[in-house]
Amino acid sequence: MTENDRLKFFCDVVLGKLCRWLRIMGYDSKIASDELSDRDILEEAKRENRVVLTRDKDLKKMKSFVDVFLLGSKDFESQIKDLFSHFSLNTYFPSDSRCSHCNSELKKIEKNRWECIGCGHEYWKGSHWKRIKDIQRKLNDL
Ligand SMILES: [Zn+2]
Repeated sequence: MTENDRLKFFCDVVLGKLCRWLRIMGYDSKIASDELSDRDILEEAKRENRVVLTRDKDLKKMKSFVDVFLLGSKDFESQIKDLFSHFSLNTYFPSDSRCSHCNSELKKIEKNRWECIGCGHEYWKGSHWKRIKDIQRKLNDL
């Protein structure tokens, strides 16, 4: 396990899809709500020791003690590639996937079936897995 395997993220509001995928890949990731100002986002990220992910150049320029990573592209695949290569994040299948809806941990309830301990959403091996494999393939082409 490297240092970056434990990174936590705080995604700005337009990065919902990226945030959900980070959770699936096992990274603790929160999404900012609409009401938060840029300053609020930076303060919350600092308190919770999260890296801020944003598409907002002004937020990137603000003075803070928080690591802010600017995503240059609107395109989800470019975003996830940029992010994973920049921080050298793991691209193997995570043993500790988090709930893509609420960021809680998943509990195994039976073979190939998991339940979110936060919202109760169930996950099983199916089409979801195929999408994860697709993303992994793309990340592994980096
Ligand atoms: Zn959940």
